[in-house]
Amino acid sequence: MFNKMTSDKRVRFKSSPRKSEFFLTLRKRVDAYFEDNNITPYANTEMVIKTIVAIVSWVATYALIITDTVSEPIPLILTFLALGFINIFIAFNIMHDATHDAYSSKQWINDLLGYSMNFVGGNQYLFRRMHGAHHGYVNIHGIDVTLETHGMFRFTPAEPWLPKHKYQHIYTPILYSLAMIHWVTFKDFKWFFMEANIGNQKKLNHPLREYVILIVSKLFYFGALLALPLYLLSAPAWLIILAFINMHLLPSLVFALIFQVTHVYDGTHYPLPDDKGNIENNYALHVLETTADFARQSKIGSWLMGGINIHVVHHIFPRVCHVHYPAITKILIEVAEEYGVEYQENETFTEALVKHMSMLKHLSKPDATVPQYGPSQYLDQPVSV
Ligand SMILES: [Zn+2]
Repeated sequence: MFNKMTSDKRVRFKSSPRKSEFFLTLRKRVDAYFEDNNITPYANTEMVIKTIVAIVSWVATYALIITDTVSEPIPLILTFLALGFINIFIAFNIMHDATHDAYSSKQWINDLLGYSMNFVGGNQYLFRRMHGAHHGYVNIHGIDVTLETHGMFRFTPAEPWLPKHKYQHIYTPILYSLAMIHWVTFKDFKWFFMEANIGNQKKLNHPLREYVILIVSKLFYFGALLALPLYLLSAPAWLIILAFINMHLLPSLVFALIFQVTHVYDGTHYPLPDDKGNIENNYALHVLETTADFARQSKIGSWLMGGINIHVVHHIFPRVCHVHYPAITKILIEVAEEYGVEYQENETFTEALVKHMSMLKHLSKPDATVPQYGPSQYLDQPVSV
């Protein structure tokens, strides 16, 4: 039996006029950027090419496996691993934008491409809900579902401390590596069958159609990547099972770290709602205090990670396709400077990783504290000269 995970409290943001003005200024300039350059916030040609590259790479790699072209142990394990990385490339670059309805102005295109989540072993319907629950409530304990790990980790000071957390910065790489295999085998079923609330979405009743899609797509995933190779390939069963498990490990570690370093790091904040469920802030400012970008200047890195590394503008404008993030971030930095608000970034992934590990280590102590709000809480107070 599982504990009820997310809190029953409904949380909303209560902005002051000055804080709202910050966001309105930012939005006006971002809108003007799209209008002046005569472009839409959705996918452009670069994005369509990326989509084709992802599909062709997947088909070519899978063909090597299923035609028994690679049957020796090491090549087979490496080809499966390559497929695992292509799967996270698809998740970062196509699925993420599509499930935010940021790929196209046409809903059916977003829905269709959103099924790439099912294709890589997950579930679009659940991801939209769970990711949505994270998106609007970053780093709010009890609402942001990405912080909820059944006590496995202590990602916020509000999470009750357990003795094992003393070692969380040590066991992190192992558990992050297992996150994807846990996701494809267990996580979706757990949230479908055992949880009533997902973040701020209470007492959910999932449509029957979604249960059918869940079962069919899981059968497809395990059928295509495990059952069919076991049936068709000349390699021994143990090797195929090993290659299948291994394809989830390293990609999982990379996937988890890329997401985690953007919110859980030395320098972030963990705001908590008051008794009425209010967070005294504007959402855009909340994002600036709970999110940091990394390796923004790396064109190859940003291309491969689908702009997940340029995460601040993604949270403020989730319906903008990731190909536009670099330009929008420049606007954000400008406006943040004008309002005296901090924009947090790390130049490299290594820098971001060090800060992530340092926060995990900090939270491994029972009495660790992390500020709820940053300097933006003073935005509406008169500046003393
Ligand atoms: Zn997102």
